[in-house]
This record gives sequence, structure tokens and C-alpha cells, in this order.
Amino acid sequence: MTSPLEYTSIETIVDSVDCLRGNFVTGKSRDLTWRKHYIQRIYDMVKENEEQLYEALAKDMNKPRLEAFVGDISPVLEECVYYIDNIDQLVKDKKVKSRSFVNNATSTNLIRKDPLGLVLIFGAWNFPLQLTLVPLVAAVAAGNTVILKPSEISMHTSALLTSLFPLYLNPNLYRIVNGGVEESTTLLSHRFDHIFYTGSAHVGKIVMEAAAKHLTPVTLELGGKCPAIVTEDVDIDTVAQRIAFGKFYNGGQACVAADYVLIHESELDAFVDAFKKTVKKWFGDDPRSSHDLARMVSVKHFDHVAGLVHRRQSGDIAIGGDMDRDECYIAPTLIINIEYSESVLMGDEIFGPVLPVLVYKKVNDAISYVNRKHSPLALYIFSKNKKIIDKILKTTQSGGVLVNDTMMHQAEYSLPFGGIGNSGMGNYHGDKSFDTFTHERSIMIKSQRMESLMQVRYPPYTDKNLSL
Ligand code: NAD
Repeated sequence: MTSPLEYTSIETIVDSVDCLRGNFVTGKSRDLTWRKHYIQRIYDMVKENEEQLYEALAKDMNKPRLEAFVGDISPVLEECVYYIDNIDQLVKDKKVKSRSFVNNATSTNLIRKDPLGLVLIFGAWNFPLQLTLVPLVAAVAAGNTVILKPSEISMHTSALLTSLFPLYLNPNLYRIVNGGVEESTTLLSHRFDHIFYTGSAHVGKIVMEAAAKHLTPVTLELGGKCPAIVTEDVDIDTVAQRIAFGKFYNGGQACVAADYVLIHESELDAFVDAFKKTVKKWFGDDPRSSHDLARMVSVKHFDHVAGLVHRRQSGDIAIGGDMDRDECYIAPTLIINIEYSESVLMGDEIFGPVLPVLVYKKVNDAISYVNRKHSPLALYIFSKNKKIIDKILKTTQSGGVLVNDTMMHQAEYSLPFGGIGNSGMGNYHGDKSFDTFTHERSIMIKSQRMESLMQVRYPPYTDKNLSL
């Protein structure tokens, strides 16, 4: 397929970086009236073009309309409204009391919420609006100039966004750069004041290395294998539905998708039965004809997930397994009887509608398995037993935890969202995003009065200085 996305020329990239860096110091992006105006314009851009955006998201990955609304349109609109309502409070100077009465008796101490400068935001393709525009809203609210690099893989959505962007936002302050590795590498060779990156850990390392050359701070929103631990004595129908939701939403192409299940051996059969019922209820006898299942975003991504299923050294397909490369279709698939350490399914993040299920005898075995892997972005625990929940919380690490559900903590913007270790660094959403794109600048203002009090700090040093 020929891509509708035109890549930005290298000369234009260099020009954009210079231009936006120069324009930051004019102070225009800091002006509060303009910040509010442009947040409103991001809202308008999404709202006025909602239908076209649904079409583009459907072309990219057959994203069901409801999932497009919940996962892409609504988070951006809600974040705009939140910032319009709260920006006056967020930008306020914070006055702090002096702890050093003698030295700073006449000082006023302020923490000013300064913008960082020119920031670079890399979005990912699986939620191409949410993952580019939600951080953009906060970067604008915090007063920065911004270069946005949408994913080249969600080409229809990125192309539409690129055509709409200059109609709503001032290109002297905010620009889009499109492209693949070459264009991203060119961008990364320049100095930014912050880089906010969403994507794989592999590229996250490349981004961090490039940023280090300029001592640029980074936020890395990465992925990983998010486990769902299921203990004994659960409501298995509810558990099956909630895990299926966290696996088949967006065709399993979500950083917080439940990547695999660790279930107590006594619950396995009931879980498989309940999962079968759920898949049938949601997608019918032939999930391929369902309108509610997204497709893999590209043949390359299809091949990756299909390859994991075909090359697995162990495991039986309990549900699904059908695939069609021409349509990038993979049926909702459940795989059981997996040898813990052998299967390629248990290596990298799956990022597709395939769910391996492992069994454990003792919860300690499940905990040890989770701890042998990189810390995940999300950890899901399904249990009614408070002691076991507490034990898992105390003995594991993850970006976030959700007990008795999947994915919904990511949609709760009053909670910070981010990873730990291989699943990322830094966090965002709501107020946390504002902090991410803000420099807390310490400002001390003194008067020229009471110089006599200051004499104690000046040479020649004698015992009088000890009263400091
Ligand atoms: P990716 O890392 O392949 O690509 C992301 C961006 O990096 C793109 O803009 C691409 O142009 C650029 N890029 C690719 N290769 C590059 C290189 N060699 N040098 C410089 N730039 C390069 O990631 P992806 O496949 O688009 O996303 C999937 C991953 O992202 C999964 O691991 C998923 O878990 C993770 N993810 C995380 C979150 C989160 O919020 N934590 C959200 C969505 C996806």
C-alpha cells in the first residue's frame, strides 16, 4: 500500500528545530491567554473532525468506533477540558517560607512553574491520537514550544493530523515532523529541552542515548509483558471477561494489555470455559466477521504475532488460532499448557490478541515468575484475598497495579501513569503531565534593607560568624 503520509524533508526538520527554539525565547508560548487559546484549538481540531478521525483510525487498524472514541478521541477532549478548567491554578507561583531566618529574613521565596523550552514528543501508533495529543496538551499548557513526531505506522491518522494541525495551531510555536528512522534520527541529533517518548524499550534506549549527548531529560513510556495473576476462589466469569477486555481491546495492541495469565491450577478449566463463552458472546462464532475486533496494524506486526504462535515450543491452542495475512486478522486466541521457560510466547511482549495461560501451585511461584522478568508497565491481580493481594504488592514491582480489573487505571487521569525499569521512566496524565513539562524554578527576591543583619556572614571570620 502506498502511504498517504508524506515524510518531512531533512532541511525542513532542521529549520523547524531552529525556528521553534528561537521562538521560545520570544515568550509567546508562555503567554497564558495564548496557552488557553491553543488548548481550546486542540479541542476544536479533534471535535470538528471527529468523523474523519474515526475513518482514519478504521483504515489504520479497523479500530472499532467505540474503541476509537474511548481510547483516542475522548481522552484528548477530556484532557483539554481539564487544562482549560485548571490551568490558572496550575501555573500559579508557589510561595514558600524561609527556613533560614537570619540569612534570608527579608526574602520572598517562590517556586515558579516555568516551561522547559522546546520539547519533542514521539507518539506511538496503537492509540495515535491519545498518545500524541494528550502529552501535547500538557506541553502547551506548561508554555513550551513543541515538535510532535507521530508514528509513521498509523499512517492514515498521522496524515490527517498533519493536514489539520496547521489549520488550528500556530506553526511558529507547534509543528509536526513525519518520517521513520532517518527523520527520527535527525530530530534526535538536535538539542531539545525535554523528550517525551512513547514506544518500545529498544528505541527508548536509542532515544535516551541521543538525549544524553545534550543532557536532555527524557520521559520514556515503554511497554513490556503485563501479567494477570489469578488466585483461587474468584468469580471466574467476571475474571474471564475482564481479562478478555484487557486482551482484545484494540486487537491486543495496547501497552497495558494483559500479556499473559498466571492462574492457580484449580481455576484453569473453569477459566478456559468462561473465556470461551466470553469470546463467543462478544465476537460470535466467526470473530473475523465481527465489527468489534481491530486488526493488526500492518503485515509486519501480523507476522510478528503469527510467528510467536507458530514457533512456540510448547502450548495448545484452546481457543482461536485462525489467521489471515491478507486481512492482518488474528482470531482471539487462548493458549494453555505452556512450559514456563521455553515458549517464545513468554519472551517479548506479544502486542496482539493472543493470550498464553500459565498455571501455578503456590502464589510464591507466580511471584517468582513475575520477578524473573523485567518490571512490567501494569500488574493485574484477581483475588478476593486481601492478604495475598498485599503480599503480591509487597514483593513485586510494576509501573502500576490494578486489582480485579484490567486497563482501567490507565484511563484514570487522577493517577500518574508510567513505567519502572524496562517499562519506562517518568509519568504523566492530568497534573502529572504538567509537572513533566515544567521546570520548578526557584526564585528568591530580597530587599536591600537590613544590611546590618548580614554582617555576620562576611569576613573577617571570627566567632561572630558562628551565629549564622
Ligand atoms: P517503536 O519504538 O518502534 O516506534 C516509536 C517511534 O520511534 C516512531 O515514531 C518511530 O519512527 C521511532 N523510531 C523507530 N525506530 C527508530 C530508530 N531506530 N531510531 C530513532 N527513532 C526510531 O514503537 P512502536 O512499535 O510504535 O510501539 C510499540 C511499543 O510501544 C510497545 O512496546 C508498547 O508496549 C509501547 N507502548 C507504550 C505505551 C505507554 O504509554 N507506555 C503506549 C503505547 C505503546
